[in-house]
Amino acid sequence: MNRFREISASEIEENILNLKQLTFEVTDACNLQCKYCGYGDLYYGYDKRESKCLPVSKAKLILDYLSEIWKRGNTNLERPTTYISFYGGEPLLNMQFIKEIVAYVENMNLNRDMTFSMTTNAMLLDRYMEYFVDKRFHLLISLDGDKEAQSYRVTKGGENSFDTVIRNVEELQRLYPDYFDKCVNFNSVLHNRNSVEGTYQFIKNKFGKEPTISELNNSEIREDRREEYDKTYRNKRESIHASENYRELSDELFMGEPETYDLLIFLHQYSGNVFRDYNELFVDKKKLRCTPTGTCVPFWKKMFVTVNGKIIQCERIDHSFSLGKITDNSVFLDTKYIADRFNSYLNKMKRQCENCCRQTSCTQCLYYIPDIDKPDAKCHGFMNDEEFKQYTSYCLSYLKDNPYLYKKLMTEVTIEQ
Ligand code: SF4
Ligand code: SF4
Repeated sequence: MNRFREISASEIEENILNLKQLTFEVTDACNLQCKYCGYGDLYYGYDKRESKCLPVSKAKLILDYLSEIWKRGNTNLERPTTYISFYGGEPLLNMQFIKEIVAYVENMNLNRDMTFSMTTNAMLLDRYMEYFVDKRFHLLISLDGDKEAQSYRVTKGGENSFDTVIRNVEELQRLYPDYFDKCVNFNSVLHNRNSVEGTYQFIKNKFGKEPTISELNNSEIREDRREEYDKTYRNKRESIHASENYRELSDELFMGEPETYDLLIFLHQYSGNVFRDYNELFVDKKKLRCTPTGTCVPFWKKMFVTVNGKIIQCERIDHSFSLGKITDNSVFLDTKYIADRFNSYLNKMKRQCENCCRQTSCTQCLYYIPDIDKPDAKCHGFMNDEEFKQYTSYCLSYLKDNPYLYKKLMTEVTIEQ
């Protein structure tokens, strides 16, 4: 039986109706020039950075468009929450945009709760903190650790941003401790000048927060900068294993530990004890049909609007995968076209996924498969029998070393589908 299915336009419409997050690329300008930036010269696959700002009028057009859909339709939830998120570049360079959009959203009288959030390098945070506290913004602050760890995050003049960022964040915590406690989080990038342990301990000790630690983006690296990339890249798993306090660190990181995350996916898929809904109690899971690859169906997680008015599935993928567009006076979002385009990618991968032993626990986003636009696109995550056996034995031996994780992962963690 063919276990794969295609997606439909109505599925996309339902996702838009239940949209969880709308993210605006407020500006493509930045006041820092981080050496490893995903929009920097190590990479390709994004629209040229031209110090542009997303026009407020275009952001209002998409909000009006969505509001019409939200008013007409019935969502799955009694009162859904949608995040309006501001992203860059550095969003604080276009504060006027943020204030206008927040005011606009507050006056829209939408039938859902709206929450505001922003990813920021915190260089200008001291100017606007009162506003963010007042609006209960959820802030995600980029900080790689101590001064040495932060030394790739430099100003245009090459100066380490550490002192300014720390001063601003300390000020925020000192003046608004309750807000800080509830609404502020940190994201760190791992590279050859920091370590998972150093960064984690620094931020935990200084601000009482557990940062999310990510590796450098490993797709769409420019060939002529590969050497530079390889020099800068550090593997998260290896960094954790290199720690003198590996055990304690691993326990503290919990889901931030890649091996624990792998075990979670493995147990949820293969233990036979996890059911996503009541239907799964009555049917053989293997007979349930799903889409190939591990890609989310468009707009299930979020909708991202670039500074050029392109509408994309999320901020982490190549801008050439835009699914719609906001022009000066209208929004073009054709759900049938989007479904067809998405299905054409899925169909291209179908044959490989059918033969892949990882198919029921796949986490591979199709937009990261090299040359997905070309007919001979190959997934590097493909697993044959032998590779799958190795993967199984790796997960089981990790579980054997950490038996307490079974109960913890099965009872404390859910995977959103
Ligand atoms: S990276 Fe891929 S799977 Fe993840 S949110 Fe973006 S589109 Fe979806
Ligand atoms: S890992 Fe396997 S199932 Fe997932 S996209 Fe690649 S080939 Fe398909």
